[in-house]
Amino acid sequence: MDINCTPKELFVFDKIARAAATLGAPAYLIGGFVRDKLIDRQTKDADIVCVGDGIALAHKVAESLKPKPSVSYFKNFGTAQIKYEDWEIEFVGARKESYRAESRNPEVEPGTLADDQLRRDFTINAMAISLNAGDYGKLIDPFNGLSDLEAKIIRTPLDPLRTFSDDPLRMLRAIRFASQLGFTIAEPTLKAIAEDAPRIAIVSQERITDEINKIILSPKPSIGFDLLYKTGLLKIIFPQMVDLEGAEYIDGMGHKDNFYHTLQVLDNISRNTADLWLRWAAILHDIGKPATKKFENGHGWTFHGHEVVGGRMVPKIFTKLKLPLNDKMRFVRKLVEYHLRPISLTRENITDSAIRRLLFDAGDDIDALMTLCEADITSKNKQKVKRFLENFELVRQRLKAVEEKDQIRNWQPPVTGEMIMEKFGLPPGRTVGILKNAIREAILDGIIDNNYDAAYAFMMEKAAGLHLIPVK
Ligand code: ATP
Repeated sequence: MDINCTPKELFVFDKIARAAATLGAPAYLIGGFVRDKLIDRQTKDADIVCVGDGIALAHKVAESLKPKPSVSYFKNFGTAQIKYEDWEIEFVGARKESYRAESRNPEVEPGTLADDQLRRDFTINAMAISLNAGDYGKLIDPFNGLSDLEAKIIRTPLDPLRTFSDDPLRMLRAIRFASQLGFTIAEPTLKAIAEDAPRIAIVSQERITDEINKIILSPKPSIGFDLLYKTGLLKIIFPQMVDLEGAEYIDGMGHKDNFYHTLQVLDNISRNTADLWLRWAAILHDIGKPATKKFENGHGWTFHGHEVVGGRMVPKIFTKLKLPLNDKMRFVRKLVEYHLRPISLTRENITDSAIRRLLFDAGDDIDALMTLCEADITSKNKQKVKRFLENFELVRQRLKAVEEKDQIRNWQPPVTGEMIMEKFGLPPGRTVGILKNAIREAILDGIIDNNYDAAYAFMMEKAAGLHLIPVK
């Protein structure tokens, strides 16, 4: 084998080789699996292409491999899948493709291995390994994918303008691979992306967002976003992010370029979390800045309320990008809205109640919020960065101390809405809310102690002020 395989992989490939020989349908490993093996990257699923019927090959393999569940296949696409332990193996017949202008779905007809390699997006994704007697294990690399892999280059096998025009999703895939692998996109390929960028319009939002998320999850996501920006794709698929770009100057006073600041925050946070939604919060934390930007004479640039405006933009952006409108969206919105609050706690003489209030409001998201704040420090001055980080460390210690003392994170006030309704014979409504809030605020502000007796006494006092009479 020209690639290193585990015993399990070799066992399965041997079964495939035997099945392919029986059917007289030469089979090859192809695409991402071959690429990733050659660079010692963790491989996921394996793709097998055969010169013949992919579904028939999968069924033949299943006779000896006996996978559970058995083969799943899609007749319309001519593809089949086998799950073996934690591993998915996909089968397809080699094909030749031709495209029409208005769609990224090609006309397909059976073809040779060479035809199939020709329809692959990048040279590094077009390499195949033979599973056939005679040249078993040999790398078949018609476009010098191996040397591109060694030089860390992403390049299309054919004319890039044509490749991207045929299927514009490939433009995003090029950038995604550059970001995931830390590769460079070959100059003509990059130029073609910039030229073909408007054709991204024919790709479905789900596929676009899938690629954006993969870029966000790459080790250094700024590589991908910078390329999206420079090729003009970002302006089309995520214009609000491009609006962050640029530094304006008045009277010699400028502000930082919020686009590049955001990218730095994203890279910073990506060193500390693999969570997609926390990384999304980093991307969106300053998204309200362009809409709130003002120049105040003698003072400079301000972005008052950008966290609130940004928070309001989150559901709109999630809707447009078809991201989930569930608790993930609420988490991102909350972090955007709260991202300035820990900064105010780095001042001196901060009271326990200020700490308690943030703990209560942030709840279980407090650690994520602190991680975002730390990533938001992007000064070039190393001393300053060190000082800010130390300040946040102190805030973390205070948060920990107050949480240990008061356990406020997932706290509910000791007198509940039901108790209030019962005591005064009230239906659910405004009055109950007023009393409940007053008790909660009094405890959070440290006006009364956090226990039932203090809360009860406070409720009675407040209720008297509202002329409420106990019914029991
Ligand atoms: P990953 O699994 O990380 O996404 P991959 O390369 O395996 O990487 P897949 O989307 O699984 O990506 O595709 C498998 C192979 O199919 C690719 O390596 C490539 O050869 C080919 N391919 C996938 N999408 C396209 C496309 N839009 N145009 C041309 N070839 C494609």
